[in-house]
This record gives sequence, structure tokens and C-alpha cells, in this order.
Amino acid sequence: MSEKPTIEQYKQNIEEGDFQAYKCVGCGTIKAIPTGSCYSCGGNEMEWARVSGKGNLVSFTVIHVAPEEFQDEAPYIVAIVELEEGTRVSARLVGFDPLKPEEIKLSIPLRLEYEKGSSGRTYLSFRPV
Ligand SMILES: [Zn+2]
Repeated sequence: MSEKPTIEQYKQNIEEGDFQAYKCVGCGTIKAIPTGSCYSCGGNEMEWARVSGKGNLVSFTVIHVAPEEFQDEAPYIVAIVELEEGTRVSARLVGFDPLKPEEIKLSIPLRLEYEKGSSGRTYLSFRPV
């Protein structure tokens, strides 16, 4: 894809199960979360980058009191995942019981998948490998 990445398209890609990260044209840094400028070189020219979908669990939080839109889905787990490409993304963590967070170990390998929520939206999610 050659068009300039937009947040709208970023969300649309997730909705279609085709997650893509941003890549800085100037220095090649990959960023999983849409941002206007590169934290490595300050450049603001971005292109799309496909990612492997492999990552490791950095941290997580169990959401018990969710925003209204997601209330029916609580409790659920939101994780920070470091992708193989060296960037971090926030996503749902699935494959665990949100009521037993003590069973979740940091640094475990995860893989990207998509979850359709009861709100009808599709989320990025990660599951243990
Ligand atoms: Zn850069």
C-alpha cells in the first residue's frame, strides 16, 4: 500500500482483520500505535508496515469497570505487548480468565488475533502461543 496512513484506515484495517503498523519512511522505525511523528528521528512521513503478529507480554490490567460501550464485556484484560518488530501496542489479552490474573505470566510469547466484541467492534487481541 502506498497511500499515507491515517488513523481512520488504521481502525478500518483492524475491523477487517488486517492490522498494519506505521513505518517511518525516514529511519525505518516501526510503530504499532498511530502517531504523527517518529520518536526516533522526528520525521513525519509514514507508510504502512505489515508485522509478524508475534510479541511478548509486557504488562496487563484487568478492566472491571469499562467504558459504557464495553460494559457487557467486562471484566476483560488489556495488555501492553511488545511486538517482534520492537514496538509496543495495547490490545485485549485472551486465553486467560480475567478473574485469575495471577495465572498470567509476564514475558510469555503471544500471537496476534482479532476479537469481535459484543459492541460489534473488532479489537486487536493477543493469545498465548
Ligand atoms: Zn524515523
